[in-house]
Amino acid sequence: MPITDSYQRPLHDLRISVTDRCNFRCAYCMPKEVFGRDHIFLPKDDLLTFEEITRLARILANLGVRKIRLTGGEPLLRREVEALIEMLAALPNIEIAMTTNGTLLARKAQILKNAGLHRITVSLDALDNATFKQMNDVNVPVQTVLDGITAAEEAGLTPLKINMVVKRGVNNKDILPMARYFHGSGHILRFIEFMDVGSTNGWRMDQVVSAKEIAETINSQMPIELLEANYRGEVANRWRYTDGGGEIGIIASVTQPFCGNCTRLRFSAKGELFTCLFGTRGHDLRALLRDGASDNELHQHIATIWQARTDNYSEARSTATSNLPKVEMSYIGG
Ligand code: SAM
Ligand code: SF4
Ligand code: SF4
Repeated sequence: MPITDSYQRPLHDLRISVTDRCNFRCAYCMPKEVFGRDHIFLPKDDLLTFEEITRLARILANLGVRKIRLTGGEPLLRREVEALIEMLAALPNIEIAMTTNGTLLARKAQILKNAGLHRITVSLDALDNATFKQMNDVNVPVQTVLDGITAAEEAGLTPLKINMVVKRGVNNKDILPMARYFHGSGHILRFIEFMDVGSTNGWRMDQVVSAKEIAETINSQMPIELLEANYRGEVANRWRYTDGGGEIGIIASVTQPFCGNCTRLRFSAKGELFTCLFGTRGHDLRALLRDGASDNELHQHIATIWQARTDNYSEARSTATSNLPKVEMSYIGG
């Protein structure tokens, strides 16, 4: 039975972080100063196993979930993540997607497709090598990600989505080159406002390039018009090029929050359930799983949490809320 929360929002999407590790150190997510050589990541036994994840996913499917996105950290760093995809793809009526930084995609795309992955989103913040290296902070060149995108195309994981986080003074000059590059490609480029997730990325409002400014920048060179949302809870505003060059998305989580339609539940890599990206506290499901809770008990527990949900962080964002301690993005995924 589908369930709704305190604001009548149905439960529709599940995001699962399969690892807290990443081979990038994007300053807006895992800044090197915090996630340095001595940072301690979760030991293997702390991670939910594939069987535990699949069991929770099955229970959530019975509560209305229709879309599962694997994320991280970098999900392709989780060993044999394709085995998990195969297990999840066996659940009826569920779309399986993944968000990745693309570095391992050239090797993995066909394997992921064969395992049953339906859709993939590849993050790419610039086409200019110097800017991209500045953003990933581990010296990975743009070509590595472009090779991953090509492999995903060849494997038939299309249409792809490409995520670009825009940070003023760093990569706002790359908005137009990125738009031109993906215009006519069939892929959907999505510009994301730099968000105040976590407590370590030094977020400042003056570094946010608003959705309005992004749309105006593109429209000044390549005319676009607004489209209707595909479904309730879609995070991106959809636009199309008036010349038929395809679609783009703009995710205005800071300047035009969309909590009113937020249908997403998240699991951290160690099995904590979060009802909001900006959660301060998760609900420990791993303990319940490992203490022998029955499917019915887990079902009831999760239903109760969702039904009591009142999250609307982005709409209520204020000086007071932005100073609260928050879970890191790399811990619960985007
Ligand atoms: N490592 C994978 C990747 O980068 O695609 C998956 C995890 S990452 C946390 C998921 C998405 O969140 C990425 O597209 C990333 O660019 C985005 N993201 C991370 N930190 C962000 C921030 N502070 N503001 C906006 N988007 C952010
Ligand atoms: Fe890694 Fe993705 Fe975070 Fe960048 S955004 S540090 S690639 S988890
Ligand atoms: Fe959903 Fe929380 Fe983001 Fe609002 S702030 S859209 S409730 S995840």
